[in-house]
This record gives sequence, structure tokens and C-alpha cells, in this order.
Amino acid sequence: MLASGSSGNAALVATENTRILVDAGLSMRELRKRLASIGESLEDIDAILVTHEHSDHVCGLPVLARNKGVRAAIFVTRLTTPAIDWGEKPPERLEAFQAGASFRIGDVEVQSFGIPHDAIDPVGYCFEAQGVRVGVATDLGYVPESVKFHLRRTNVLLLEANHDLDMLKVGPYPWSVKQRVMSRVGHLSNLHMSDYLMQDLENCTADLILGHLSEQNNHPAIVQMIAAEALERRSFQTRLSIAQQNSASQVFQY
Ligand SMILES: [Zn+2]
Ligand SMILES: [Zn+2]
Repeated sequence: MLASGSSGNAALVATENTRILVDAGLSMRELRKRLASIGESLEDIDAILVTHEHSDHVCGLPVLARNKGVRAAIFVTRLTTPAIDWGEKPPERLEAFQAGASFRIGDVEVQSFGIPHDAIDPVGYCFEAQGVRVGVATDLGYVPESVKFHLRRTNVLLLEANHDLDMLKVGPYPWSVKQRVMSRVGHLSNLHMSDYLMQDLENCTADLILGHLSEQNNHPAIVQMIAAEALERRSFQTRLSIAQQNSASQVFQY
């Protein structure tokens, strides 16, 4: 995880041969810096996969798309493509796909799947290579059966833990924004995250990463406590990490 939260999102999924960036919600300069902190560089990225058009996921994308040194193909769903402000025209390296499509990038099998969020055509992703499966699901109001299906058999799972309902209710957001966040197409609450852990998480998930925490309406200590309790109740040995907004996480290696 290079960054996670409402001020910017980006993650790197890589094998020895293929490097995939999921979202580019940081400035190019910041992306470069965070990649360098784990010994990677922007020039070596093979593909950038976009989840949806909200600025915390794409703000760095137009600049990356125009940069001559960056050769990454840019994967965006067909409906999301026109919702991104590319500047003069969409980049030539654009690979538009249908939400729900599966495709291969180098030696990584990618599956996209629709998620419930107030964007035009938002998707989550699953990645599979060398028998390891990685799931990415943030920015979703709840976890529908279809998403649960796609997140099965994951060894590494990034799941949203956006807000604590009580903190959100008494917090500083205007009521309309609170309603949006809480809605079925908003963001995943700690409660929904905990329900998923109690009912749907599988023992094969060795690393659970919780992310997209709200700075105003959540606290890492609360998320840690709720998730640890759920894992304990299920007697799972799953390692728990919380992705940060301001720094890259450890590298999860398989
Ligand atoms: Zn977001
Ligand atoms: Zn969003």
C-alpha cells in the first residue's frame, strides 16, 4: 500500500516480471517518492488500474498519462473513461474495459468486479499469480454477495474500514455528507467490515489490510480493536495491518 484514505490512494501489486499500480490518487512526485521508498520506480510500472473516477483515486493520472517516461498501459472501465479529466484528449495508452471483465497483464490474471459506490462505474479487483490471490475492495457502501464471491480464496485482502458510525453521526460533516457516506453507495463502516470478518472472511487470508480510514470519523485504534476481536472470535491467525494515508506500508511478500 503506497497510500490509503480520502486524500489519496495507490497500491502496487507485483511479481518478478509484472508491476501493476492500482489507482493513482497521489501527485506524480509523491507517487515517485513512495515507490522509491520500497525500491520501485514509476518507469518500471507495466499497468495502472483505476477503480473509479473520484479524485482521491485518479488525481495523479492525467499527468502520468502525458509523461513520456511512463510507459504503463492505463486500464479504466469504458464508462469511467469519459468521467476523467484527461486534459486535451484521453491518452493513447488507454485500455478501456467492461466492468466485470477478466484480463491478463504479464503473468498476472486480473478480475474486475462492480462495487456499490456513488461513482459512474466503480470496480474492485482480484489478482492472481503463481497461486497467490490478492483482493482489493475499498470505496463500497456495503459488501454484496457478488463482491463476497470475488473475494473468496484471497491470500491478501485489502478491505475498507472507513468510518465508525457513532463518530460519523456526532462528527463535523454536514448531514447530507453523513447520509452519503452511510448510504448503500457510500463507504464501508467498521460494523460492515466486522460483519464481513465474522461471516465471510476465510482462513486462507493470511494478510488482511484495512484501509481508506476516515481521518475525521475513525481511528486506527478502533479499527484495530474491532478487527482483532472478530479474528479472535473466529480463531484465525490472519495478520492484521492498517494502511496509512501518509506513508507506504510494509511489503507483503509471498
Ligand atoms: Zn476513495
Ligand atoms: Zn470513491
